[in-house]
Amino acid sequence: MAAATDHDQKAGFARPLSISESVHEQIYQRIMSLEILPGARIPIDQLARELNVSQTPVRDALTRLEREGLVRKAHLIGYSAAPQLTPKEFDDLYRFRLMLEPESARQACLRLTPEKLERLENAAADMEKGEQPVSRNSRYSRFARADAHFHDEILKVADNEFARQALNDRHIHLHIFRLMFHSRVTQEALEEHERLLAAFRAGDADAAYHAMHDHIERSRDRLAAAFE
Ligand SMILES: [Zn+2]
Repeated sequence: MAAATDHDQKAGFARPLSISESVHEQIYQRIMSLEILPGARIPIDQLARELNVSQTPVRDALTRLEREGLVRKAHLIGYSAAPQLTPKEFDDLYRFRLMLEPESARQACLRLTPEKLERLENAAADMEKGEQPVSRNSRYSRFARADAHFHDEILKVADNEFARQALNDRHIHLHIFRLMFHSRVTQEALEEHERLLAAFRAGDADAAYHAMHDHIERSRDRLAAAFE
């Protein structure tokens, strides 16, 4: 199962998924791959039947996905997938990222140690690693998480918890990657990450700032097509 592979690679060792983890993973993938469309209702009984489990792990997974910002719960209606970002929200989001992330990359560069650089290199390499994805779905959701992880590692090195939380609280990567599903972004993003890493390796804080700024602007331009 693709889901297990994602987890195992991330953790670096093989570990069987519990039922509730596996159910969470499968619903997550359906949402990220737009198999469950933004705004669509998610009936618990039907999902439990499809996944061949009882309703309890489905409820648990939906509660967790609600915390992660991917589903919403409405009184008397139940769960539905979070709506797609509006063009205004998308614009706000990218202006917000441009305020925080280039400066965080600059500060991360000033705080780098060999160990921290190695962590960043590994996080970036995670995006390219892995056996041939079994499907488009698993490729995108794996890429989504690896990219979120890489950006978060940079924020950790920058060592400003307020900035890190401000970005994580909005679960921005999850929303972005639902948009991304329809675009071809992976190779270009990898090259941009490589430029960022080159700046880190050189200890060039200004170059790190500009590489991150560039990466976010380009990412915005690639995804803007999703609204056209
Ligand atoms: Zn990125």
